[in-house]
Amino acid sequence: LSQRMAERSVDVIKYLMKEGQMMKPGDVIDADLAELIAGEFGHTVKRVSESDVELGIFGADKGDEGELKPRPPVVTIMGHVDHGKTSLLDAIRNANVVSGEAGGITQHIGAYQVEKNGQLITFIDTPGHAAFTAMRARGAQATDIAILVVAADDAVMPQTIESINHAKAAEVPIIVAINKIDKPTADAQKVRTDLLQHEVFVESMGGEVLDVEVSALKQLNLDKLLDAILLQAELLDLKANPDRTAEGVVIEAKLDRGRGSVATVLVQAGTLTPGEILVAGDQWGRVRALVNDRGEQVKSAGPAFPVEILGLQGTPQAGDRFAVVENEGRAREIAEYRQRLARDKAAARQSGSRGSLEQMMTQLQDTGSQEFPLLVKGDVQGSIEAIAGAIEKLGTDEVRARIIHSGAGAITESDISLAEASGAAIIGFNVRANKQARDAAERDGVEIRYYNIIYDLVDDVKAAMSGMLSPER
Ligand code: GDP
Repeated sequence: LSQRMAERSVDVIKYLMKEGQMMKPGDVIDADLAELIAGEFGHTVKRVSESDVELGIFGADKGDEGELKPRPPVVTIMGHVDHGKTSLLDAIRNANVVSGEAGGITQHIGAYQVEKNGQLITFIDTPGHAAFTAMRARGAQATDIAILVVAADDAVMPQTIESINHAKAAEVPIIVAINKIDKPTADAQKVRTDLLQHEVFVESMGGEVLDVEVSALKQLNLDKLLDAILLQAELLDLKANPDRTAEGVVIEAKLDRGRGSVATVLVQAGTLTPGEILVAGDQWGRVRALVNDRGEQVKSAGPAFPVEILGLQGTPQAGDRFAVVENEGRAREIAEYRQRLARDKAAARQSGSRGSLEQMMTQLQDTGSQEFPLLVKGDVQGSIEAIAGAIEKLGTDEVRARIIHSGAGAITESDISLAEASGAAIIGFNVRANKQARDAAERDGVEIRYYNIIYDLVDDVKAAMSGMLSPER
């Protein structure tokens, strides 16, 4: 504080002593005292809260003038390992490069666009639910539609189920791509019936989920898949205002030897142009150039348009939000504020202020939420079903537990990120978390509770619901 006021710290400490506060340099004071001191030393105080900072960005002058216009859908591909996610992304890209610009060489920038019947579709180029949920955990929802790839010779597998639950937790609609139908052992019907058990009802089973039989290898029916995406997009009525200052989300970011910090962003509203100043997470910069997914420099990027940004001072993280601000000073101020906030949060975590089931419940009640999200992992399917049944019966009028994902096997990093993104606690029944998962839980402040007797578990959940949970066992 004395530094910011350009005063000697001894003078500040003397003043505090006079007021009966014994302090030394480095001690922490609260905002009220800081305001008092600053006033005493003849400085004008401007209080900046998180909401001021965020409003300052998103409520910028050029706000929401202009009208909403249709924008391309943003699609993520998910599914079990080896079911063909990467092959499908490649096949779609190779078959449908945006026409008229055939010269460019495809670059992996984290997202790409294809054209179908004059309409654009944006694909996130990192398949799988891990990246998807990691982004969501940072508060960013980039995806409009999830393509669930299921190999027709293998049907529904554990990561298929995870993907379904991750998509559902994010309330993102699913389109099923039944892949590898070229294989003699392919059984598309088994995929459809398997999916019933996980509450994915495709059209031919009386549901509303679109499904398409494809072969990424033989490039079969890729057009039909794109049609299904456009149909789903039409139902979603996706719109954004291109005529405002740009904001959106960081898809990927890296430090490039030749080019410095490079971030791929997806513009979600407004239009981004070179020369503009933006804040991305706790980093900022002036846009030196915008580069598209074919390595070409572009003059602007509108809604759902993925571009690489050159000119950032540092490297933001995937999932960070970005926004254009009016000037460099403002950009610096926000970036520094967020860096400080991140440091404070890290310090708070270090000091072990992890949420308990009980605190989570209280928080939920404070926010008026009535659902208590839980993720249940167990040793065998039978016990998981018993637990799920017992927990779901516990609901009261005010609050009920909702199981957002369950499965057999150890608690993994993917479980942690889903729990973090959904504000859920994790319950392990006769299973443990692996090392990476424990570290991630520690880092992200996700609560894991272990049980081996269903009774204890039900008791704890019940107690948490009534806000009377016993101390950690
Ligand atoms: P990912 O792990 O989901 O990204 O799966 P990959 O795209 O890496 O594909 C796994 C394997 O399945 C590779 O050997 C692919 O060649 C193969 N594969 C992918 N799609 C098809 C397909 O449509 N038909 C056949 N026969 N094989 C496929």
